Amino acid sequence: MSESESSNPCLSCGACCASYRVSFHWAETPPGLDESLLQRLGPQQLCMSGTAYGAPRCVALQGEIGRAVSCGVYAHRPPPCDELKPGQPQCQRARARHGLPALELRP
Ligand code: SF4
Ligand code: SF4
Repeated sequence: MSESESSNPCLSCGACCASYRVSFHWAETPPGLDESLLQRLGPQQLCMSGTAYGAPRCVALQGEIGRAVSCGVYAHRPPPCDELKPGQPQCQRARARHGLPALELRP
């Protein structure tokens, strides 16, 4: 979500931000991430609020999935968000879940 829309499919997607629980160890919390956007899962684990539900949607996701989206905490997003790359199986599953076509993988 940092490049131009033409080169970054995430800007017109957002499906993974509304498909998975975005959880991480408290020690991995990025500096600057607003703690009011976090939910405690246990003594050591946190997640982005809104992602622990059966129909997850991260509270930081702005916009309409499949049209135009942005991450409200992009500069401070937690590790799972940075690790999930466009075209990976998790990405493709999330897109399918939201009725979006599979991404063409670059050669
Ligand atoms: S599901 Fe894939 S294309 Fe969509 S926002 Fe996530 S990584 Fe990007
Ligand atoms: S923090 Fe940003 S990139 Fe991560 S799930 Fe939420 S909206 Fe998506």
